[in-house]
Amino acid sequence: MVDAVTLPAPDSELVDKLVAANRILYHQGVVDGFGHASVRHDKSPAHFLLARNMAPGLVRRDDIVTFDLDGAALDAGERRVYLERFIHGEIYRARPDVQAIVHSHSPSVIPFGVTAQPLRPIFHMSGFLGEGAAMFEIREIAGDTNMLISDNRLGAALAASLGARSTVLMRGHGSTVVGTSIEQAVYRAIYAEVNAKLQLQAVTLGEVTYLNANEAAKAASTNDTQLARTWELWLRQVGTIE
Ligand code: MN
Repeated sequence: MVDAVTLPAPDSELVDKLVAANRILYHQGVVDGFGHASVRHDKSPAHFLLARNMAPGLVRRDDIVTFDLDGAALDAGERRVYLERFIHGEIYRARPDVQAIVHSHSPSVIPFGVTAQPLRPIFHMSGFLGEGAAMFEIREIAGDTNMLISDNRLGAALAASLGARSTVLMRGHGSTVVGTSIEQAVYRAIYAEVNAKLQLQAVTLGEVTYLNANEAAKAASTNDTQLARTWELWLRQVGTIE
């Protein structure tokens, strides 16, 4: 086990980007007082960075804490940590390709987690949804709970439900999206919310033609070359990173 003394400090630009991600997600209405974003530590794949227990829109550099994949904080000190940090550790453990994660209760996505209507890509911007979001039913693992991913067992079950997909809906709770970079995870979290709004409108009109798997994959691949465009725009709205 690497401890905080021997683990090198993360890249300061990565920390700044994580702070920006928290603020952007707040400004874009994906998170409110709740929800969180993390990034895998750039010097150790067995660690990740996540803010202390606080509203994402208020996160500053000094609020970023380092965790191991069990969800144990290395440098939290007296600071409280998020109850659902196990979401992050267990997904990083299960998915070596994942470099960033956003967990939120973004409102428009919630109906798709509690009905038989899967969240599917309605337009090219959400090609990352592929054949649809994965579904997680906490009752199957732990019976009646407070709905939170409050330990490693639940985190591992969530990661198993996510599988190889980009997005998992958590029934009666929220959703979690993953990416190969902070920019991609933030983009996906924002467009999952947009897609949910549009899908809800479309289904009221009649039968919907979604992107098929090939179209979704092609659109997602193209969008991944355009991430800087939205990131720069969103970054402009959040002010100075401190
Ligand atoms: Mn939650």
